[in-house]
Amino acid sequence: MASHIVGYPRMGPKRELKFALESFWDGKSSAEDLEKVATDLRASIWKQMADAGIKYIPSNTFSYYDQVLDTTAMLGAVPDRYSWTGGEINLSTYFSMARGNATVPAMEMTKWFDTNYHFIVPELAPSTKFSYSSHKAINEYKEAKALGVDTVPVLVGPVSYLLLSKAAKGVEKSFSPLSLLSSILPVYKEVIAELKAAGASWIQFDEPTLVKDLESHQLSAFSAAYAELESALSGLNVLVETYFADVPADSYKTLTSLSSVTAYGFDLERGTKTLELVKSGFPAGKYLFAGVVDGRNIWADDLAASLATLQSLEAVVGKDKLVVSTSCSLMHTAVDLVNETKLDDEIKSWLAFAAQKVVEVNALAKALAGQKDEAYFAANAAALASRRSSPRVTNEEVQKAATALKGSDHRRATTVSARLDAQQKKLNLPVLPTTTIGSFPQTVELRRVRREYKAKKISEEEYTNAIKEEISKVVKIQEELDIDVLVHGEPERNDMVEYFGEQLSGFTFTANGWVQSYGSRCVKPPIIYGDVSRPNPMTVFWSKMAQSMTARPMKGMLTGPVTILNWSFVRNDQPRFETCYQIALAIKKEVEDLEAGGIQVIQIDEAALREGLPLRKSEHAFYLDWAVHSFRITNCGVQDTTIHTHMCYSNFNDIIQSIINMDADVITIENSRSDEKLLSVFREGVVYGAGIGPGVYDIHSPRIPSKEEIADRVNKMLAVLDTNILWVNPDCGLKTRKYAEVKPALTNMVEAAKQIRAEL
Ligand code: GLN
Ligand code: ZN
Repeated sequence: MASHIVGYPRMGPKRELKFALESFWDGKSSAEDLEKVATDLRASIWKQMADAGIKYIPSNTFSYYDQVLDTTAMLGAVPDRYSWTGGEINLSTYFSMARGNATVPAMEMTKWFDTNYHFIVPELAPSTKFSYSSHKAINEYKEAKALGVDTVPVLVGPVSYLLLSKAAKGVEKSFSPLSLLSSILPVYKEVIAELKAAGASWIQFDEPTLVKDLESHQLSAFSAAYAELESALSGLNVLVETYFADVPADSYKTLTSLSSVTAYGFDLERGTKTLELVKSGFPAGKYLFAGVVDGRNIWADDLAASLATLQSLEAVVGKDKLVVSTSCSLMHTAVDLVNETKLDDEIKSWLAFAAQKVVEVNALAKALAGQKDEAYFAANAAALASRRSSPRVTNEEVQKAATALKGSDHRRATTVSARLDAQQKKLNLPVLPTTTIGSFPQTVELRRVRREYKAKKISEEEYTNAIKEEISKVVKIQEELDIDVLVHGEPERNDMVEYFGEQLSGFTFTANGWVQSYGSRCVKPPIIYGDVSRPNPMTVFWSKMAQSMTARPMKGMLTGPVTILNWSFVRNDQPRFETCYQIALAIKKEVEDLEAGGIQVIQIDEAALREGLPLRKSEHAFYLDWAVHSFRITNCGVQDTTIHTHMCYSNFNDIIQSIINMDADVITIENSRSDEKLLSVFREGVVYGAGIGPGVYDIHSPRIPSKEEIADRVNKMLAVLDTNILWVNPDCGLKTRKYAEVKPALTNMVEAAKQIRAEL
């Protein structure tokens, strides 16, 4: 009877690590205080898994910041700018790489596959020297052992590490980090030798890049790496763990022929094709770690279905070689349902967070071994049945409306170029119109007002007055700055998804359902459990109020369906696109109510459209098709309202045709940190007819850009884009900035636009 967990959340059930880290960074507590919190968390996690009966318990999945950065530390691959002089890497160097320090910027951070977790991107050069410089893996192994738990130490695999790395600045273009494989393997060998010496009998290499579309030389690197490690690994059971998608057939073939590897971990939740591959051939005598319990969602597992899958696999791999596991690390789900005291019992019975998933994995392993806990399985079946038949899940009307959408196209009656001139005239806009992305600084005072209103400490009237006052202040500032298209500043929103989720049916919220996003930052995604509908208008009251304060156009501000979907825990009882269409219909109603309320410009943010892109290229077209369709559904019915959209990234050259297909009138996008990557697509001849506002300055930094610098940026854009389509705006919303930064920055932005207009 064997059970395994790929990895576990690090933050703690009440975000203990977050608070310990932030207090340490603020100089309010010592390194010893931080280490104490970390040690306690690790101990309680190991104990929890051991008590649940898990056989293969992971270690080294804890991290002060990120497991890829931990690997960089292990390899001693510290970029020169941190002036590290060798020896065991200390917290100061480690956190400088993660967060920067007074003199040196941080390393780049990017999304971990298609999750909302961000890792620190290794920066490598031909000259990078590697040396064993962080003994974290062995230390954690020994720490667990001292507590009586023999763990499976987990390392980021050498090939995935290099494939996730980037070339350091200034290195010649032809350099590929993968060429450093033979230089990093000696360090891996040292680590393996130490783990063996300390008594480890298993080791786990996470190699998730195996689920991507790999070129043949990349795939060969896996064979080369594990062949090179073979003698070091002898005597150990070696698990190569993959997750987040199917393993392509050729990669599966390569992987399963590695002689130094004795066990394979597959995500069978997202990898239904991998399941077929396993059934059509699995190497004799090797272990299959079957990831049947979903690590990326919060739903209770369908235990009967998983058990059936596992039983069908037993025949293929042999009873003693099948290990029940999670589809991926549980760090991508919430920590413990026990802390959700406010969720109602019915919905709670449908859910399983990390702590509950550990129990599910073990129950499945016991059932396979003939010790099925009938009561536990029966309770699970009853919960699933209640979810299937609950009237709270199904809304016939919504289902009908969503079904009616299928097969038909949804487009505005006119083309964007025909709309553009008319809108510019109607709104009386100058060339190079100026605008902002939506939010204005969120002051401590504002947060207090929202908090007190939520806790019913202040009345509806007091709340409305406070927000009204804030909107009026923001409107006045923008008029004084002479911005052309105004925003209301979003003072009533704490989060661009939660604000809408709270007003839509079919959503629920947790008190502690936090998931690590990066470093100490966590997000608390809403849970979509039922058909989505919009009982009442959500933003019309505030938008009309804001519009009444000014003669200039005021943008109505909405979050788009794809972003709401991608930033929520989504139901698993219907395809994602169906949920997305339902949200689109709800937003459509809001758009139409805003238009009827006299709002002439509506911005529908799709900040997360790109990050929902599937990992495999073969699945891109299908996703983009329904995602873009959902966006168009929201606004195909408007008369002559101007539709803006906003996106928080600049690497969209590969999906430019889909973005054009969204048919928005104006798109504002992040640009200022991208070395003009964005503009190159237009330089290469992509024809773009809609309005476009590539951000003219970076709002992620407190730095105030000068008028000259902004004018220079705008002129560079004008060299590539037509004058009549260009908008002038910052990169993103201003909510994290201070007024002392925002006012001078926007002043310079408006002056730059005016100066260039005068020169045209
Ligand atoms: N309208 C939102 C804001 O300005 C957009 C935020 C985002 O794109 N992430 O805050
Ligand atoms: Zn943004």
